Amino acid sequence: MTDLTDPGERKAELAGNLARVEERIARACAAAGRSRDEVTLVVVTKTYPAGDVRLLAELGVRHVAENRDQDAAPKAAACADLGLTWHFVGQLQTNKVRSVAGYADFVHSVDRSRLVRSLEGAAERAGRELGCLIQVALDAESGQRGERGGAAPADVDELADELAKAQGLRLDGVMTVAPLAGPYAGSPSEAFGRLREISTRLRTAHPAAKMVSAGMSSDLEEAVAAGATHVRVGSAVLGQRPRLG
Ligand SMILES: *Cc1c(COP(=O)(O)O)cnc(C)c1O
Repeated sequence: MTDLTDPGERKAELAGNLARVEERIARACAAAGRSRDEVTLVVVTKTYPAGDVRLLAELGVRHVAENRDQDAAPKAAACADLGLTWHFVGQLQTNKVRSVAGYADFVHSVDRSRLVRSLEGAAERAGRELGCLIQVALDAESGQRGERGGAAPADVDELADELAKAQGLRLDGVMTVAPLAGPYAGSPSEAFGRLREISTRLRTAHPAAKMVSAGMSSDLEEAVAAGATHVRVGSAVLGQRPRLG
């Protein structure tokens, strides 16, 4: 949709948006008494073209994320020369794992044993090490579980042990999306506080699993306040997506 836009204008628009997001992260860090370098901005480029990824790289972005392999694979290939770190943040079907293991550096959406086994095989075949985060569904216990995937909090420890033993996979931490239903709906601070508890518990058994991926355009401040190490920001940088993506 932005292909017809003059690249100079688009770059200026992205630069302005990035500056505003950077300011929000810096303020949130200051308010929480955290150092700015404890939080990594991951720009979610889903639905936007490879040209935008290139402009973002020119503006200093180092981490990008995608949620659908069909879109991500060609984009990552088109941007292979940029040396970016690619994060896969969407629900992952096992038939896409082989492709994802070819370009992703991190997978934030590991939520079941079958996926761990599939990722292990794909990482070995690709000769790559994949950083893995366990996606936690904070609405899983309410019976109103959304459609975004994720493991129930009670299943995190077992999945973590499986990940830690898997060849070619590195257990790096936890991820969540603030739930739209259940007891945490509309309360991102409480949701991210719960994720922090789950992360703390995980790190007693797996001290290296320090990543906490939480917070998007609308709730990055709450995530930084609750200890997020990675915020995943899409629309505040790239603009409103025309459809849910
Ligand atoms: C799309 C998406 C984001 C970014 O959402 P915005 O509201 O556009 O910032 C973050 N995380 C995941 C898992 C996503 O799918």
